Amino acid sequence: MAERESRSHDATGIGDLIFMGPPGVGKGTQAKRLTERNGWVQLSTGELFRDHLKRQTPLGQMAQRYMDRGDYVPDDVTIDMVREFLSELTPDTRVMFDGFPRTVAQALALDALLAERSRSIGRVLVLDAPRDELVRRILARSRAEGRADDTPDVITKRFEVYAEQTQPVVDHYHAKDLVRRVNGLGGIDEITDRLIEGAR
Ligand code: AMP
Repeated sequence: MAERESRSHDATGIGDLIFMGPPGVGKGTQAKRLTERNGWVQLSTGELFRDHLKRQTPLGQMAQRYMDRGDYVPDDVTIDMVREFLSELTPDTRVMFDGFPRTVAQALALDALLAERSRSIGRVLVLDAPRDELVRRILARSRAEGRADDTPDVITKRFEVYAEQTQPVVDHYHAKDLVRRVNGLGGIDEITDRLIEGAR
C-alpha cells in the first residue's frame, strides 16, 4: 500500500520534502530507500561534497577542511550547489532534500529558491534517536567505512553543531506546521514505513 500511495505524490503537488536528523540516525540509508521506493529525487549535500572530495575538485578540497573538523561548509557554497541542482530539475519531480538545509540561512535561501520555481516544502521529516545509540552507530560505521569525518572529537563537534545550527531549522519549519518527528529506533523496514506515513 505504501508504494501505491507514494507513487501518486509526484502528481499531487503536495510539495518537496526535507529529511533531517542528527548525525548517525540513518538518514542516508533511509533516504535511499525512500527515494527508490517512491520515485523521489534525492539531494544529499553531504554526498555531493563527498563526491567532489573523491574527485579532488576545488570545491571538494575547500569543503574537506570543514568536513574534517565536523563543521558545516559555508552557507554560500552550499546554497550555490543546491541552486545549480534545482536549475536542472523538471517541475514534475518531488525532491527529498537530505541533510539540507542545516542552518536557518540555508532554510531561508531554500524557501526563496523554491518560490522562484513555483515549488514549496510540503513536509519536513525529522528522524531521531537517543544520542548514545547514535554515537554507537557512528563508531560502527566509521570502522566499517573508514569515513575520515567520524573520529570521536569530530563526532562530538558534529552533535554540537547540529544542536546550535540545525535545531533552529526544525523550529523554523515547526512554526509552519510542516514537521513530523519519526522514531529512528527499530528495524530498517519499520522505520521506512514510518517515514512514508510521516511524508503524507
Ligand atoms: P552528511 O553526510 O549529510 O552528514 O554530511 C557530511 C558533512 O558534509 C557535514 O558534516 C558537513 O561538513 C557537510 N555538509 C553536508 N550538508 C551540509 C549543509 N547543508 N551545510 C553545510 N555543510 C554540509
